[in-house]
Amino acid sequence: MTEVIVVGAGPTGLLLAGDLAEAGVAVTVLERRDGEISNLSRAFVVHARTLEQLDARGLAEALTDTGTVLDGLRLFGRVRVDLSMLPSRFPHLVVTPQYNVERLLLERALRAGAEVVHNAEVVGLSQDGAGVTVTTNGGTYRAAYVVGADGMRSAVRHLVGLPFPGRSVLRSIMLADVKVAREPDQVLTADAVGDAFAFIAPFGDGYHRVFAWDRRRILPDDAPLALDEVREATRRALGDDFGMHDPRWLSRFHSDERQAPRYRVGRVFLAGDAAHVHSPAGGMGMNTGLQDAANLGWKLAAALRGAPDALLDSYQDERHPVGRSVLHTSGAIVRVALVRSSVGRVLRGLLGQGALAVPAVRARAAGRISGVGFAYRAPAGAHRLVGTRAPDVRLAGGGRLYEALRGGRFVLVGDADVTGWEDRVRVAGHAGPGGSAVLVRPDGHVGWAGTDAAGLRRALTALAGAPMSRSEVPHA
Ligand SMILES: Cc1cc2nc3c(=O)[nH]c(=O)nc-3n(C[C@H](O)[C@H](O)[C@H](O)COP(=O)(O)OP(=O)(O)OC[C@H]3O[C@@H](n4cnc5c(N)ncnc54)[C@H](O)[C@@H]3O)c2cc1C
Repeated sequence: MTEVIVVGAGPTGLLLAGDLAEAGVAVTVLERRDGEISNLSRAFVVHARTLEQLDARGLAEALTDTGTVLDGLRLFGRVRVDLSMLPSRFPHLVVTPQYNVERLLLERALRAGAEVVHNAEVVGLSQDGAGVTVTTNGGTYRAAYVVGADGMRSAVRHLVGLPFPGRSVLRSIMLADVKVAREPDQVLTADAVGDAFAFIAPFGDGYHRVFAWDRRRILPDDAPLALDEVREATRRALGDDFGMHDPRWLSRFHSDERQAPRYRVGRVFLAGDAAHVHSPAGGMGMNTGLQDAANLGWKLAAALRGAPDALLDSYQDERHPVGRSVLHTSGAIVRVALVRSSVGRVLRGLLGQGALAVPAVRARAAGRISGVGFAYRAPAGAHRLVGTRAPDVRLAGGGRLYEALRGGRFVLVGDADVTGWEDRVRVAGHAGPGGSAVLVRPDGHVGWAGTDAAGLRRALTALAGAPMSRSEVPHA
């Protein structure tokens, strides 16, 4: 029987489904599209923390092979966030279209045993004390938990009665997938000049994706778009239209800044764009959704093995503040990039460059945008490491931490006794000073640290669920 239903086979839903399936949870993904992965998909940038999560799933190398590695992100003018100093195995970002991320995550989810049902549009949902019933256009499904990873217009969010407060920040953004006569000098080219903004990046299949915006032409999303309009705004913002021609897709869209007030209603959770949306500036949307999924998957698996319900509440406690922070960051980039007056633009350049020349500001900006800088708040009385992002340390006995995390396990860096949880915890390394050990959660954050064996068992029960019974222990 299905234990978790994931609604939506976008990047968020697919990472979550793979994590659940790897943890041995019976998971069904309901997706309203047919089986094709769309090449009209949106994101281009995969940031360092996402690469770390992919590394913990054995996928970082394969994804990197599909794209181009850049050690910085130009936001506007000469203001650039340098990523080369990030304290990560991946001090860079990878430019690759979203469909490459989706393809790798789909293959992994299917390999791990997730069921993906296409042409299944969720239209109804009701929950009781024991589970959730989901209705699609073609049938009825039931599971212990449901996750709405069904994007910005989430039916699940609507069906549990959650609002999506916020506002439109940019209207009438022009989108064009085109061929170009002249390759731009840089892989990601973006700038805002005067009343225009433009961005161009290669898809890797002979087409380039262009976003352009012209403050003087704000039209409804359904107003027809001519390539000349895109050319003109691109020339003004970037100084060249790169001889764009043969568009395969032209459309207008608007960008909203919104966040659901809660990510959980009973047995139903929201993740990814269903929970938060913001402008594409900084390229953080898909990345944030993937981190939501990485945070939620192991918690649902643990809840199904008897972990207390409070563990599921920690999803909201940990991820909602990150979502809010990402909204602020991307909103600030847009507002500064599109500052109107010429004096404002001069100040923007000077202040932006000046601020980013200060090491602490630069590190903070890089940490926020890459996701590497986020730590979760430790519960009262917990060790100061709890909630922090675990760095990819070399383990005594060989290998790296993020390799040891593969398979969705906890890793105990130290050599304490984990009898009863051997199926979920890998013990790696030697005890630290005074016999101390660190328990790293499957999402690469510290779950517990200390020297006290009883404290470790309490933490394991709270985070990983009940220990195996004698009959479950192999060869017991
Ligand atoms: C122009 C643009 C550029 C962007 N650039 C970046 C970037 O560089 N980096 C970045 O990180 N992010 C970027 N983003 C954001 C990124 O594309 C999204 O954040 C990401 O797609 C969200 O993934 P998701 O899985 O949460 O939702 P989605 O990708 O929207 O997937 C939701 C899935 O749910 C399905 N679905 C919807 N309703 C139902 C239903 N009722 N029943 C069943 N299935 C349903 C949909 O068909 C879809 O497959 C950009 C966005 C835009 C618009």
